[in-house]
Amino acid sequence: MLDNKKISKFAISVVEDLQKNNFQAYLVGGCVRDALTNIVPKDFDIATSATPEQVRKIFKASRIIGKRFKLVHVFNRSELLEVATFRSGDTKKEDGENLITDASGKILRDNIWGTLEQDCHRRDFTINALYYCPITKKIEDNNGGLKHIHKKIIVSIGDPQRRFEEDPVRCLRAIRFSNKLDFKIDNDIKEAIYDKGHLLSDISNARLFDEFCKIYLGGMGEKNFVKLNSFNLNKYLLLSDPNKSDFANSVMVQALRNTDDRIKNEQSTTPGFLMAALLWPTLLSKCTRNGEVNIRKFFRSMDDVLRDQQRLTAIPRKFNSYIKDIWVLQLKLHSRIGSQPYKTLRHPRFRAAYDFLLVRERAAADKGGLGKWWTDFQKDDDSLRGSIISNMNEKDDAESGKIFGFYNELR
Ligand code: ATP
Ligand code: MG
Repeated sequence: MLDNKKISKFAISVVEDLQKNNFQAYLVGGCVRDALTNIVPKDFDIATSATPEQVRKIFKASRIIGKRFKLVHVFNRSELLEVATFRSGDTKKEDGENLITDASGKILRDNIWGTLEQDCHRRDFTINALYYCPITKKIEDNNGGLKHIHKKIIVSIGDPQRRFEEDPVRCLRAIRFSNKLDFKIDNDIKEAIYDKGHLLSDISNARLFDEFCKIYLGGMGEKNFVKLNSFNLNKYLLLSDPNKSDFANSVMVQALRNTDDRIKNEQSTTPGFLMAALLWPTLLSKCTRNGEVNIRKFFRSMDDVLRDQQRLTAIPRKFNSYIKDIWVLQLKLHSRIGSQPYKTLRHPRFRAAYDFLLVRERAAADKGGLGKWWTDFQKDDDSLRGSIISNMNEKDDAESGKIFGFYNELR
């Protein structure tokens, strides 16, 4: 059974306070599922019979958020909990302002309160609809979620065809959870993904950026990439190289592998680095003709690529210049004579650009040595650096500088 040691003390105290005020309250969703599958839960969601206004009154440090889906954030200095009121989830019973669906059945707003039993039905998968009371230590399981955890399978609550029409993002969630938990996906869900995946084109770019981060910056990026490709869903998250070259695929896989490794080693990651890497093949495809990169086109295409990607996933503005810096530095890394390498080394984004150079080299199985040159150049003190540079002659640099002429070098 579930051990309370796996649950945040703050989350337990919030459940207790709600219950003391005569409301029902449970931990629910990912934290219960993860704790039962020996994954350390990363955040805690609470479901309650109290309305958002009632929750807000009980906790001083709280605020009501959301319009489409109203809920309350309850926080202390280090943690933030999402407290959601039970929803009735009855999409047939349209109720003016509170529940709105569009012509395709997509839920645009759901703020009709309900009971615990009803709340289960609006959740996506049975394993996400387990309600745990940390005081009695009992789990409410109305849909067989415990059995499915035991069987390691993701099963939809209700007909997945209809559920994915209501919210197509569930297609992405099913794939993400199957990799995270190493669970199979039920056949009905697979079929619904094939049938309804195209509805993802109507989902807002902001929501898809959130999902992009969960999919690609959660430590399972490479696996998610492969599985999303097998369902042909990556096109809703990412621009892709129109030539579909092996190189494009390889850069993407290497970049994701690098990010997954960094997460495993508890190193920092940013969507900026990953976007720069994932969009690199698309950028090159726009400015390369007959194997040659046109530098003016390279610079002009950067904004086009970012703008097109923004239509899919809204990349927060602050990452735009970061991404472009990494791209431009790829050119500069090829210039190794005179004072240029010192300037490149001092650039605030040098480290990220260098990491990406290594990713590119790995993707092209290129042992050309540029990455190694920079590895040595960084390590040495200034006097040694001087000798590394004086060992470079124009011919060598021109060799590596083929970046300015030849596509192969850029790869
Ligand atoms: P993780 O936090 O690891 O992404 P999670 O299951 O906790 O997984 P959240 O997005 O935090 O995912 O949502 C919490 C819970 O809310 C889910 O477990 C599920 O019960 C419900 N939920 C979230 N998104 C949806 C959705 N799109 N459709 C139906 N239910 C959802
Ligand atoms: Mg969660």
